[in-house]
Amino acid sequence: MKLLKFGGTSLANAEKFLCVSNIIEKNKNHEQVAIVLSAPAKITNYLANIVENDININQALEQIELAENIFINIIKNIKKIQSCFLYEETKKIVKKEFNQLKKIINNFTLFKNYPEHIQAIIISRGEILSIWIMKNILASRSHLVTIIDPIENIVSQGNYLNSTVNIHESKTRISKINIKNNHIILMAGFIGGNEKGELVILGRNGSDYSAAILACCLNAQLCEIWTDVDGVFTSDPKKIFNTCLLKSISYEEAMELSYLGAKVLHPRTIKPLKDFNIPCIIKNTFNIRSQGTLICKKHNYSENIVKGITNLDGIVMYVIPNKLIQQNHNLISMILSLFKKKHINIILITQLSQNNFSFCILEKDTQKGLLLLQQLCKLESKDKSFSDIKVIKNLSVLSIIGFNIFQQHNITSKIFSSLGKSKINILSIAQRSSNYSISIVIKKKNILQSMQIIHDKLFHNNKIINVFLIGIGGVGSALIQQILQQKHFLENKNITIKIHAIANSKKILFLNDSIELKNWKKYFKESKEKFNLEVLSKLLKNNYFVNSVIVDCTSDEILSKKYTSFLLQGFHVVTSNKKANTSSLKYYNEIRTTALKENKKFLYETNVGAGLPVIQTLKNLFYTGDNLICFKGILSGSLSFIFGKLEENILLSDATKQAKDLGFTEPNPCDDLSGVDVARKLLILAREVGYKIELEDIEIQAILPNHFKKYKNTEEFLYKLKEIDSTFKEKAQNAKNLGKVLRFVGTIEQGGKCSVKIEEINSNHPLYKVKNGENALTFYTNYYQPIPLVLRGYGAGNNVTASGVFSDLLRTIL
Ligand code: ADP
Ligand code: ASP
Ligand code: MG
Repeated sequence: MKLLKFGGTSLANAEKFLCVSNIIEKNKNHEQVAIVLSAPAKITNYLANIVENDININQALEQIELAENIFINIIKNIKKIQSCFLYEETKKIVKKEFNQLKKIINNFTLFKNYPEHIQAIIISRGEILSIWIMKNILASRSHLVTIIDPIENIVSQGNYLNSTVNIHESKTRISKINIKNNHIILMAGFIGGNEKGELVILGRNGSDYSAAILACCLNAQLCEIWTDVDGVFTSDPKKIFNTCLLKSISYEEAMELSYLGAKVLHPRTIKPLKDFNIPCIIKNTFNIRSQGTLICKKHNYSENIVKGITNLDGIVMYVIPNKLIQQNHNLISMILSLFKKKHINIILITQLSQNNFSFCILEKDTQKGLLLLQQLCKLESKDKSFSDIKVIKNLSVLSIIGFNIFQQHNITSKIFSSLGKSKINILSIAQRSSNYSISIVIKKKNILQSMQIIHDKLFHNNKIINVFLIGIGGVGSALIQQILQQKHFLENKNITIKIHAIANSKKILFLNDSIELKNWKKYFKESKEKFNLEVLSKLLKNNYFVNSVIVDCTSDEILSKKYTSFLLQGFHVVTSNKKANTSSLKYYNEIRTTALKENKKFLYETNVGAGLPVIQTLKNLFYTGDNLICFKGILSGSLSFIFGKLEENILLSDATKQAKDLGFTEPNPCDDLSGVDVARKLLILAREVGYKIELEDIEIQAILPNHFKKYKNTEEFLYKLKEIDSTFKEKAQNAKNLGKVLRFVGTIEQGGKCSVKIEEINSNHPLYKVKNGENALTFYTNYYQPIPLVLRGYGAGNNVTASGVFSDLLRTIL
C-alpha cells in the first residue's frame, strides 16, 4: 500500500486534476493506493478570509462566489478534456455545498464572529469538493473507489481549528472499514472529527499531516507528498536564489525544517511517520521524473551538515529584565508553564544579553501573551515591574538546520561575519534543545536578504558570483556567451555565475529560474521592463546577494558616475568602460577609497589592452616593490593596423578605410585618428603607476590637421583624408630610408610626463614589428631593464575584451 497526497498547488485547475488522476492510475497499476487531497490552490484562503477578517455579508458572499467559480471552471474544463466525466452530477454537489455555505453565512451575519466549529466547517469545504471531483474522474474511468470520511475516522482532539490526531484510535476505526483490495482509497485532507463527532481542522497546510496519519493507519509502505517543487530544497526555491535539491534528509531534520517555517511540510507531518518508520518522499506533480527528496531514518551523515535555511515571520520577542528574574527565581519556569497551559507556542528561548531572559512567540498571540505576563507580575510583585518587560515586534526567526549543527563552530562565525558585512543586526541567537538547528532573531525587513546571504555563504562556499550586466553590445553579448560556455567547467571548480539582470540603455530583463540564460536574447526582446536610473536604484536597494557584481559593458558616462553608489550598496564593479578612470582625479580617487572602505572590488582590466593582462600585471609589480622607469606602447588596435599598412606603401586614406571595413575603428575613424582614445588609455596607465595627472596633462600630437574635426560624416572624412596621404607617404618613406617604421606611440617618461605621438621606431625596438591591429606595451622598470617587460597581443575585439571582463568577474571571489 502506498499513500499519495496532492496539495492545492497540484489541483489548481482541470489540467492539474487530470494530471493527478494519471499519477494515481499509474501507481494503482503496481499496488493499492490511498489518496489524500487538499483543496485547490487559493480556495482555503478565500474561505478563511470570510471567517478570519472583519468583512461584511456582501464581501463574504463575494469570496464564496470566487471559490465557487474556481470549482465550476475546474469541472467544466475537466468535462471538455475528458468527455465521460460526470459533470452534471459533480456540479450538483458543488452547488449544494456552496448553497449550504451561503446559508450558514446568512445565518451568522448578526454575529460578527463565527464560532470556531462553524469556522472549521466553512474553511474545510474545498477538501470535501476535491474528493468528489476526483472520485468522479476516477469513476468515469471505471475505477472503484472507497471514500474514507475523516470526520468519523480521523479522531482528533484540541481546538476546532488546530486539532491533533489520536493515531491509535483512528487506526482502530479505519481498520474496521471494509476496503476491497482493488479499490482506490480517497480521503479529504485537513479534516478530522472530535469526540463529539464534530468536524475539526488540523491547522493550515494540514493535509500533509492527514496524509501521514492515514499512511500510519493503513500500514502504508511509503508516504508520497506531491507538490509543485522537486522536493525539499536548501531553502524555499520560490524566495531564495540558487537553492539545491536535497536527495535525502532524516526525519529529525525534516521535522525541524517544517517546525521552523519550511512550508513544504506541515510541522506535525513527520512525527507519526517516524514513529511508524514509514519513509516519505516529496515529489513534484509537474516533473514526475525528478527523484524527489527522501525523508527517512537512515541518513548519510557524511554529507553536508547544513541541510537547510528557513524563516518564520510575524514574530514578537518579550524581554524579561534581569531585575524581575532576581526578584523571583521561579519566574522563568512560571512563564513557560503558564504559556504552555494557555496554548501559546513559545517558538524560541533566546539570550539577548547575559542577564536578560527573552523568548519569541507568534505575533498573533502578542496580546494574549502580554495579559499572561501582566497577571504573573501582579501576582509576584507589588511594584510596577510589568512595564519593565520589553516587547519587540516585527521580527523574524531565521534558522539553519542540520544534525549537531551547533558543534560546527565555523557555522556561527560564518553567520555573524556575513550578516555583519551587510550591516544586518542579529538581535538574538538560540539553539533549540533538539540540537538540529541554530536560530537567530532579526528584523523582519531583513529576512530575505539575510537568508540569501547565509544561504550563499553556507551552500556555495562563497564561490557564487551574482551578475547584473549593463550593456549588451558586442562585448556584453560575448560575455554572456562565454559564461554559458564555461558553466560546467566552473561548476566543477565550485564556482557558479548567476546572471540576475541584463540591461541596455532602454530596457532590462530580470532572469529567474524559469528563464534559461541561453535564450536571453528572445526574452530580452519580449521584456517590457524599462531601464533607467530609477529602476537601477531600486535594483541596488534590493540587492540580497553576498557577492554581487555590476558589470558595465557600455561606454556611458552617466553610468560611470554611479560606481561609488554601486560600491556603497554592496556591489563589486567590473567595467570595460573607460569613462570613470579617465574622469577627474577626484572621482578616480573617490572610487578607490569607497571600494576600500566597503571592502568591494573595482576591476577594469579591459580599460587598457582589452584582454591583455596589463592592469593586474602592473599592480603585481608595484605591490612587490618595482618602479616604472618609462613606458612606451601601441595602445590602439586601429592605429596599429593603419600605421602597419603605411610601411607596405598603402595610402593613409586607404589604410583607414580598410581598418574601418574590418571593424577595427570607431564608427567614425576620425575618433581613432584624433589620438584621444590612446591618451585615455595612457592616462589610466600613468595613474595606475601613481602619477596624479589629468587628461589635459597629456600631450597629444595630432595626426590630423585641426580643421578635420568638423567632418562628422564618415564618407566625407575619408574623402578629406586623401589630402594628407602624400605627407604620410613621405614620412613613411623617410623612416624606411633610415631602416625604421612609423608607429603611433604613447609614452610615460620618468617623472610622469605623458605624450602620444607618431614616432620613428628602429628595428631592434619591441614596437617595430607590432602591426595588424596588435597592441604592445613595453615597461622599463627597476626589475625589467635593460630589456623591458613586453605585453603584446590583440588589444581590441569582442571576444578578447569579454574574456578580460570575465576574468575580472572571477577575481571578485578569488
Ligand atoms: P501544496 O499545495 O502542495 O501543499 P505548499 O505551497 O503548501 O504546497 O508547499 C510547497 C511550497 O513550499 C513550495 O512551492 C515552496 O515555495 C515552499 N517551500 C518552503 N520551503 C521549502 C523548501 N525548503 N523546499 C521546498 N519547498 C519549500
Ligand atoms: N487547504 C488547506 C490549506 O490551504 C490545507 C492544505 O492545503 O494542506 O491550508
Ligand atoms: Mg501544503
